[in-house]
Amino acid sequence: PTTLGVLGGGQLGRMFVHAAQAMGYAVAVLDPDPASPAGRVADVHIATAYDDEQGLAQLMQRCEAITTEFENVPAAVLGTLAAQRPVAPHAQAVAVAQDRAAEKAHFAACAARTGVGPAPHAIIRSAADLQRIDDTLLPGILKTARLGYDGKGQLRVQHRDELAAAWQRLGQVPCVLERHLPLRDELSVIVARGADGTLVALPVQRNVHRDGILAVTEVGDGAVDPTLAQQALDATQAIAADLHYVGVLCVEFFVVDDGSPSGALVVNEMAPRPHNSGHHSIDACDVSQFELQVRALAGLPLVAPRLHSAAVMLNLLGNLWWRDDVAVTPDWAGVLALPGVHLHLYGKLDARPGRKMGHLTITAPTLAQARDVARTAATLLGLPPWR
Ligand code: ATP
Ligand code: MG
Ligand code: MG
Repeated sequence: PTTLGVLGGGQLGRMFVHAAQAMGYAVAVLDPDPASPAGRVADVHIATAYDDEQGLAQLMQRCEAITTEFENVPAAVLGTLAAQRPVAPHAQAVAVAQDRAAEKAHFAACAARTGVGPAPHAIIRSAADLQRIDDTLLPGILKTARLGYDGKGQLRVQHRDELAAAWQRLGQVPCVLERHLPLRDELSVIVARGADGTLVALPVQRNVHRDGILAVTEVGDGAVDPTLAQQALDATQAIAADLHYVGVLCVEFFVVDDGSPSGALVVNEMAPRPHNSGHHSIDACDVSQFELQVRALAGLPLVAPRLHSAAVMLNLLGNLWWRDDVAVTPDWAGVLALPGVHLHLYGKLDARPGRKMGHLTITAPTLAQARDVARTAATLLGLPPWR
């Protein structure tokens, strides 16, 4: 069979492997961890560093086309691979997504057309930049420009006099200081774009974060205000098109309290790959985000996915495997006795607190019903409530 390649062996790679194999492809995964979640289910596992020449040569030899599931693969590596094989997304788009400063510049450029811009911010590259910070950016959040995820590499800053110490704690690397915005809600939009410019989208998702980590995603009628959803979709379309993006892209939005009844949209960040907030699509859509990535990579037609069930997705973090420092197994039988519950575990061997171990998707005819069951499941597992 044709072999597709993936850089990165985490849960996103694992779900990509499942989708690709279901369509008859073989998959080669390159990840340094010989026991990575995707590597263990792939047809070929190349266990080298992402920039190892022999590993990359082997990947190119084996694969017709290559994608990435790990957003911090050196963008230059994608460029090298692209000289010999189709690569999606392309190196330039990934490079923009890897750098909050470049990402925000791209969002600001698109805002002229879409009316949806980034949070007020400043780029910090030197101590002098810190001096120049406008008071309107405080209280703010100082974020490293590169390598942050799940709220890591971020510090809240209340006052000017805390700025220098915060920057020091982040290692004095290039950072972005963003104004702390009054959030009413958070949304995300996942699109798949083909090389010919065809673009399809998953239904706009409503996301709840806890401690900077995605906790809950809801989709279906009533999850998101339709006007905001359309604006977010239009903005995502522009962001993808202006990057000449190919593949699956997720764009995260804030709904900011501006006094208006619905709130105003601000674009937060993007992920150049399938996204945690799209995991519901495996069980609630007729085409999943992972199948869309397979199609985009293989040059197959992209069709609009249809949400056939309302859904609530609950992330399962490593904390669930511990009670009072004693290892426990969560009550899967209890939650699986509820209607419409789909359990996904990623095969990670080590349940560290805060680590994404799996997720539950609860599907139902209506969002109200899905929420009811999801709340019961959350209570059974000891997960906190959300609104
Ligand atoms: P991810 O795992 O999604 O890549 P990340 O580490 O890149 O996360 P962000 O998306 O920048 O982090 O922020 C994480 C969360 O922190 C946001 O979803 C939001 O809940 C909160 N947050 C971030 N920036 C702001 C802001 N400017 N104002 C208010 N809340 C914010
Ligand atoms: Mg991020
Ligand atoms: Mg984020």
